[in-house]
Amino acid sequence: MIAIKETSDPYARRLIGLKGMIGNTPLLAIHFNFNGRERVIHAKAEHMNMTGSIKDRMAYHILADAYRLGRLQPEDTIVEATSGNTGISFAALGRALGHPVEIFMPDWMSQERVSLIRSLGAKICPVSREQGGFHGSIRFSEQRAGASPHVFLPCQFSNCANVEAHEETTGPEIWRQLEVLSKEPDAFVAGVGTGGTIMGVGRYLRRRRKAIKIHPVEPSESPTLSTGHKVGQHRIQGVSDEFIPAIVDLNELDHVIAVNDGDAILMAQKLARDLGLAVGISSGANFIAALMAQNELGADAVVATVFADSNKKYLSTDLLRDEPVREGYLSPKISLSHFEAVRKYKDCQATCGSY
Ligand code: PMP
Repeated sequence: MIAIKETSDPYARRLIGLKGMIGNTPLLAIHFNFNGRERVIHAKAEHMNMTGSIKDRMAYHILADAYRLGRLQPEDTIVEATSGNTGISFAALGRALGHPVEIFMPDWMSQERVSLIRSLGAKICPVSREQGGFHGSIRFSEQRAGASPHVFLPCQFSNCANVEAHEETTGPEIWRQLEVLSKEPDAFVAGVGTGGTIMGVGRYLRRRRKAIKIHPVEPSESPTLSTGHKVGQHRIQGVSDEFIPAIVDLNELDHVIAVNDGDAILMAQKLARDLGLAVGISSGANFIAALMAQNELGADAVVATVFADSNKKYLSTDLLRDEPVREGYLSPKISLSHFEAVRKYKDCQATCGSY
């Protein structure tokens, strides 16, 4: 647990301010009908974090942890290779803490992403396909760090603080918000990008309930976890990169659930159109995966997941186009009804500070 007390240290004061904008998101109990039966799936509204995604938790935890341990100095430049939410989180939090921020990313990323990161005051270092694309971005960021002692590399794919962020905040929040509903989770599912969410939440929930199922989720079109390497292409941005991250230990997890990217898109569209929940494609995938886990355990099983981000970065993608319905998809059989939003914790007047 990172304890940053009331202090005159301006850096710590900034951390305390940011802490109040991250985590403690509502848990949504989403009621729907599937094959003629009423069901409920629980999802953390992570799109309500400071920059609109779950990655704020990881970025905050890594920066606060490194500062506390003396590994990050106030004048250091934060350098990260990323194309998505991580870049936006490090840009916002890094700049708010007074650091220069440099983001290495493939040069074919959408203009919205580039503009968002730039608008937050970070420098974009584009990397072409010829220079190695995503792998090239990682190599350049490491070279940049090697050339200067004043560079901080968060290393989200291998940094244990990424897992800790979820073990100490997201996991306990899910447990305590389900308590308000007098429930305990039977399963947790989450799409794997770095694996921080599934490993951290999984570890915490398994400590509380040994029999819980913890399922990682991947796109059927590109099953990196099942094969160990990059296969095919998929449209669920933020998950299933080109390798199994160092912080992921598949032995700690239950079987992988595969979701079609078209089904994920249709589900995300349905959440926005029918419930006003404007979430990204991986959130649609997580909902479908949660339903698949529930189908295995029984219609009344308590299954939790996360809505990792909002739809704002996907407005120029297939999320805003007509998606064809294919045989085997689950989303067409789901009729969304309403949701309850649990903001409080049992025995707490308001939300509880969790960092
Ligand atoms: N969904 C989206 C949209 C993401 O950006 C990420 C992070 N890459 C994930 C899911 C997966 O989260 P994690 O990195 O914790 O596995």
